[in-house]
Order: sequence, then C-alpha cells, then structure tokens
Amino acid sequence: MKYYGLNELREKFLKFFESKEHLRKGSFSLVPSNDKSLLLINSGMAPLKPYFTGAEVPPKKRMTTCQKCIRTGDIENVGKTARHGTFFEMLGNFSFGDYFKEEAISWAWEFFTKELEIPEELLYVSVYEDDHEAAKIWHEQEGVPKERIVYMGKEDNFWEHGVGPCGPCSEIYIDRGEKYGCGSHDCKVGCECDRFVEVWNLVFTQFELKESGEYVPLDFPNIDTGMGLERLAVMMQGVDSIFDVDTIVAVEDKVCELSGEKYKVDDETDVSIRLITDHVRSITFMASDGIMPSNEGRGYVFRRLLRRASHHGKKIGIEGKFLTDLVDVVIETSKGAYSELEEKKEYIKSVISMEEDRFAKTIDNGMNILLSHIKDLKENNKKVLDGEKVFVLHDTYGFPVDLTREILEEKGMDIDLEGYKENMEIQRERARKARGVDTYMGNDGSVYDGLNISENTVFEGYEKLESSSEIISIITDEEVSAISAGQKGSVFVKNTPFYATSGGQIADTGLIKNENAVFEVHDVKKLAGGIFAHIGEVKSGSFNLGDKVNLSVKESDRRKIMANHSATHLLQQALRDVLGKHVEQAGSSVNADRLRFDFTHFNSMTKEELEKAENIVNEKVMAALPVKYEVLPIEEAKKRGAMALFGEKYGKEVRVISMGNEKPYSVELCGGTHVSNTSAIGVFKLISESGIAAGVRRIEAITGQAVIDYYKQKEELLTKVCKELKTDENSLILKVGQVLDENKSLRKVLDEIKAKEAIGELDEILKNGEEHGGVSLYKARLDLDFKSLEQLADNIIAKNENSFVVLCSADGGKVNLLSIASKNAVDKGIDCGKIIRESAKLVGGGGGGRKNIARAGGKNEAGIESALDKAINIAKEMIN
Ligand code: ATP
Ligand code: MG
Repeated sequence: MKYYGLNELREKFLKFFESKEHLRKGSFSLVPSNDKSLLLINSGMAPLKPYFTGAEVPPKKRMTTCQKCIRTGDIENVGKTARHGTFFEMLGNFSFGDYFKEEAISWAWEFFTKELEIPEELLYVSVYEDDHEAAKIWHEQEGVPKERIVYMGKEDNFWEHGVGPCGPCSEIYIDRGEKYGCGSHDCKVGCECDRFVEVWNLVFTQFELKESGEYVPLDFPNIDTGMGLERLAVMMQGVDSIFDVDTIVAVEDKVCELSGEKYKVDDETDVSIRLITDHVRSITFMASDGIMPSNEGRGYVFRRLLRRASHHGKKIGIEGKFLTDLVDVVIETSKGAYSELEEKKEYIKSVISMEEDRFAKTIDNGMNILLSHIKDLKENNKKVLDGEKVFVLHDTYGFPVDLTREILEEKGMDIDLEGYKENMEIQRERARKARGVDTYMGNDGSVYDGLNISENTVFEGYEKLESSSEIISIITDEEVSAISAGQKGSVFVKNTPFYATSGGQIADTGLIKNENAVFEVHDVKKLAGGIFAHIGEVKSGSFNLGDKVNLSVKESDRRKIMANHSATHLLQQALRDVLGKHVEQAGSSVNADRLRFDFTHFNSMTKEELEKAENIVNEKVMAALPVKYEVLPIEEAKKRGAMALFGEKYGKEVRVISMGNEKPYSVELCGGTHVSNTSAIGVFKLISESGIAAGVRRIEAITGQAVIDYYKQKEELLTKVCKELKTDENSLILKVGQVLDENKSLRKVLDEIKAKEAIGELDEILKNGEEHGGVSLYKARLDLDFKSLEQLADNIIAKNENSFVVLCSADGGKVNLLSIASKNAVDKGIDCGKIIRESAKLVGGGGGGRKNIARAGGKNEAGIESALDKAINIAKEMIN
C-alpha cells in the first residue's frame, strides 16, 4: 500500500469530500456546547447533533470534518490494544437529509479503493442483519463479493440512543493479515483481536424511535460516518498500532528517550509507554480547549489522565517532571491542523506543569503510606486493602482511588471498593450534619426536624415585594404556638415575597406584621422540601399560630440585590466574550452591597481585559436591555443556549433569564430575582480580581448607588489631598512632584548634617572605649542612617588600629546594627559576623557578615542596649 503521513491522510479525506460538494469545517471544541448530556465530544457527529435533530439549520446539507475526540470509556483499553486511544481524531462526512446509502457507500468505497488504492481483497464490510438494502448496494453497486459481506446483530450494527433518530450502520474492516490474528480457527471480522480492524463506520439514520417502541421511517434520512484517522494511518503506514504512526511515534520516541527504555522489549513497559503517549495527547488537547484539572466532570477526566501518565512515567523510570517535554512534541506534530495548540502553547504547558507539581506533592505523601499498607498486606498474606484505608488515602492525602487500585493491581492486589464507598457515605452524612442550618437558636438545623408542614412555601417574590399570608408554624427552641416581643425564632407562612438564600443570591430582609405585632426578618432559609423559614426577632407584640400577617421585603436592599444579580449575568457573558468560552461559573455570591463572581480561567486578568469586560457590561446597562424570564422545559432552554452551571442538576422545567431582545446578550438558567431592564443596574464597576484556587479567579464588583458612593469617597480623598498640599486638582501632579523633589534634597542636606554631627560624636566614643587584651572596644547608640554609621566606624578604626566598634541606631522603627574590626583586632580573634548574629537576636532581627565587618537589622528598639553589651562581651571572649 502507498504510504501516507497522518496529516496527509486528514487532508486527503477532507479534500475528497470537498470534491463531493461537502462543506469543510474545522474541528469543534472538545467541550460540548449546550449539550449537558455529554462530558466530552466523542465523535464527529456529536457537535453536529442540532443539525441532525432539526433544532438548527446546517450551513450546508453536506459537511465534512476531522473532529478531535476523547473517549474515557476506552481508558482501560489504552496501551493494551493497538487501536484504542483516549484521544483520537475522527474523520467524517455527513448528510443532513440530503444524500443517503448509495452515495455514502459508493464514496467510502471510492475513497478506499481509488483514492488510497487499498487492495479490495483486504477489505470487509459488515451490515445490520435486516439491512438487505445496504448489502445489496455493497454487492451489486460496488462489486464486493458476498463472502466479504458480514451480517451482524443489533448490538454491533444498529445505532440508537434512546428515543429519537436511529438506524442501521455498516462498517468497513481492513484485514491486517494473519500475523496480527489471535490464531483461533474462527478468527474473523468482529473478533476482538487486532487482525480485522474496524476503520470506518457508516451510520444510516433512517428511523425515529418513538416512545411506543415503534421505528418510524424519517422523511429525510441522514448520513453520519466516522473513521478513526489514527487507525487509517496504521493501515496505510503498515505499522503495528496507532502509537506507531508517524506523528504519534514522535511522542512515543520521546517517552523512550526520557525513560531510557527501549520500546518492544518488555510488554509491561510497552503498555506504560503507549499509555503515557496517549494520555499526554489527551491532556494537551483538553488544555487547549480550556479544560482545567479539578475534582469533577471534565476537570476530573483531565486530572485522572494526567495523574495516570505521571504515575506510569515514574514506573518506567522517568525522574522528575516530564510531561511538558512531551507536550512540546504533541504540539509540534499536530499544530498544522490545530493552530490553537501553537497559540496557547505557554498556557497549555503551565496548566499541565502546575498540575504535575501538585500531583508530585500528593504522591510523595500518599505513596509512602500506600507502600507501608502493601507491606502489611504482604506480611499478613492478604490481598485486599480495606476500604477505610483507601478512603483515608483519598480523603486526607488526596491520593486518587483509581491510582491506589492500579498500584495494588500491579502487585496482584485489590481494594475493597464497597468498604471505600461505605466510608465515603459516612463522611457525606457527617458533612451534611455538620453543615446543618444555623438558626438563632444556636444549634443546628435539627430544631426543624419535627416541623410538620405538608406543602411547600409559595414564593411570590418574583412579582411582588408584599403579600398577605397566614402563620402556619412557629419555632423557637421547639415548635410553639406563640412568640412574643424579644423572642427569636423562625416563622412559617403559606406564601411569601421573601427570597430565601439560594443560587448565590442572599435572602431578603424585612418585616412580618399585623395590627398587634412586628417581627423583623433577618434571614430566610429554604429547608428541605422547599419550606421557607423566616428567621428573626419579634420587635413588639406577639404572634399566634393562625394569625393573618402582612409580609414586606425591605425594598431598597432588594433592588440593590436584583441589580447586582443581573449585573453578574452580564459579567459572565462579558468574560466569555473577552477571555473565551472556557470561562465557566465556579461560584457566585450576590448581596445588597456587592457581587462576587468566581470563574474558571488560568491567568490573572490584564488591566486591558478587565477594562474591556467592565466596558461591555456598562454598554449593556446603558443599552437598556429588557430582562425576560420564562419557565421552559430543560431541552428548550438548552436549545436557546442558556448557560447552566456545570454539574448542577436541574428539574424538568427551568427558569431562564434572558437579557436583550431577539438575540439576547445573556441567557442563563437562574432562579434568582432580577431587574426588569438592565438600565436599572445604573452603572457597573469592577473592584477587584484575584485568584482563589488553581485555575479559578474571583471578581468583585458593585453597581448603582454603591458606584456613586465609591467615586464620592475617591473624590473626598482627592479633595483632602489637595487641601493638605494646598493646591487644586489641576496642579496636583505637579505639586506632588515638587514636594517629592524638595523632600529628596532636604534628605540630602539632612544626611550631610548628620554625618558632620557624627564626627562630633567621634571623640565622645573614643573617650568611652574599654581596653581588653590589647584591643579597644567601642560601643555607641546613635540615631543615624546606615551610611553615616559606617563612616563613623571607619573613622574610629582610622584613629585606632587596634579597635573593635559596635554601633546601633533606631531609624523609624527599624533597628540597625553594625560592627567593624580593625585588622589587628581580627588577628586577635574578633569575628564581627558571629558577634552580630548573636547580638542581633536581642533586637529581634538577624544578619551577619565577615570577620572584619557585619551588619544586621531588627525591629525591637528596646533591646538596643543589651545588644550592644552582648556584642562587647562576646568580643571579649573572642580575644585570645
Ligand atoms: P471499537 O469497537 O474498535 O472500540 P467503536 O465501535 O467504538 O470501535 P465507533 O463508535 O463506530 O467505534 O467510532 C467510529 C470510528 O472511530 C471507529 O471506526 C474507529 O476508527 C474510531 N475509534 C473509535 N474509538 C476509538 C479509539 N478509542 N481510539 C482510536 N480510534 C477510535
Ligand atoms: Mg469503542
């Protein structure tokens, strides 16, 4: 067969289908957009789903792509089979109600036999057992001999995913010859060994599966095909596995180079080499699509792959960090088709490097513990590590359970998974209890345990801020029938305008009243089952069960909360516009004073990025966009592109907040309360941006009156500064410059004066010297700067060549210590470095130096005298 490089094959395929009038599209991101059913894109068809279901109109009825894919389901196969990677590229041609079986089969055959010139006798096809139509096309139209057409059952050759479009498929296999076979006498197409490799799958989506179980033919059937690019390259390059094709082997070679191991010497080592090769490809591409390591969802897949690669690296003898060296090779060989790799190279490497560091730390701790467990098991002739130990490794030391299991498996041992799960459950329960609900009663939420309310509280706060209702329960330390002035507790009503803390929005405050009594609501909590506890204190009178009451939310605060919440939505979209689609909400908190938004992003934001985001939000505020809310089925909401919290479970019906008219600027699933027009936000100001965890940033911002107050404060400050400097705003900068200049020259003059004064001190110091073993010892405290101290000391030495001097000064809370010894003094045994090190401790500082000169700084002025004494005493001891 003719040899083709992997990059060449990709291009050949896409060109071929372009010549058949297909629209060529670049690969979509690995992160599904608006498809919560999928963690990561795993086929060429996945990102095109809306075109297949009819939810969206495709730009053209024929498309062709080469799609990056990740299949975590294949993780256990990786390294063990020749044909599975967690990462691979899938070539595909698609028809959205345009051509069907005849063309799809004909072009596939043409591409293989004409374009790539694969000998026909090496090709086999499989068809679904009831799909005689496809079999006929293969045989009659393309001339494939009947004995090379294999029928398979629903399991293998019928594509179906619950209710919806589905249909039979037909796969093309390449026979790689006996040498790859398992040797079994019934080794044939469909055998799990590596001889007959499935390369291309043609799916004929021609039915719709109804709820009733009936398969109804579609008016416009679709074609969806998928071919593993790496697998095709294996065939065309005549190599053993997907890890040996031209681009990937470069990574594999690098793994060998770093480990000093040779490929194909030892089977177990080979598995590790291939696994590392694959996993590094996966994490490189995942990072390039903005996925960041974390403990859930995609982030967890990332973390797990990286940790597995790192672990296997250690296993085959790679020392220290190595992943980014491999990332370089992945980028080098794939950047032609995926320019984002080159563009984000530094970013990708820093994400991976940081996680590798973090893992190294985790491992060092956990590994030692695990090894001692393994030793214990061996000594006791046991093979299963008990669940509690596995749990502690995971919970306390962050050591991944998968890794514990893998390491044990390498030693022929296993973990007690059930026991681990039980411990996990106990921990969850404990956490749930610990979290509790705080109330005024000073204990946990258990005061609510006996609560007997059958209906959920009706929340009316979207439409109104006041309503009337009836008290149906009162709880202080326990359920009571009345509560009176001075008492704290929780009040329950049938319906309420009070928002209970949820979705990052803080609860409303306000009053519950009737003619006789007033209850101040300080907090509102939603208890299990959707019952609202109004927590607060009775200010006057008393309430009884059954009382009719009026509930009113503190309007001024609620307005601010709404403005801040709506601004948070605008901010999220603005951040995605400025930083990219990888921005996802990681948390938020909205109250009347400010809003806080946590999101996934790796670097700190630049000044320009912050400014851009702020400007966009203010633009949208000033554009006075109407804010709409609708309650929609979740599917419909997703179709509209609503941003949802990753990993959050939503009910069937969701509340969708959109801002803007036909093409809303922001669409989010949200149960919070919002302004009805963005103009009510008034104005938006970012206050801070900071990192709170690896890959998570936090923004704080304010809106409306708070912004005005903020600037008022700044203005007042400015006025004060002007007043102090006796100038006006226009000349402030000039004035500050002048003052600084003046200060500088004054300082100079002052230093000169001090130096002169110091010389005056000289005689005084010399007079007070003390003789010891032929050395004159001088000490003094002088509040001079360091330079002057030094000058003074030099002068003393110049006057007396057998001297040791220790000087100390306090300068604005800072203590300086200096000692100098003449050559003769040093010869007699003086070591200034040691002296200063010891005496500096008494002024709460440290320092050191050479034998003839040493310095130290400190902060304890009160210790100066004793430090000087100490220095002299040590000096005496040193003189021999
Ligand atoms: P297999 O049974 O070999 O795992 P599959 O039936 O899961 O394959 P499909 O879902 O039909 O494969 O995917 C279409 C094509 O994508 C396959 O024919 C194959 O060429 C390629 N492919 C699938 N999984 C992988 C993988 N893990 N690594 C590399 N290529 C793959
Ligand atoms: Mg598979």
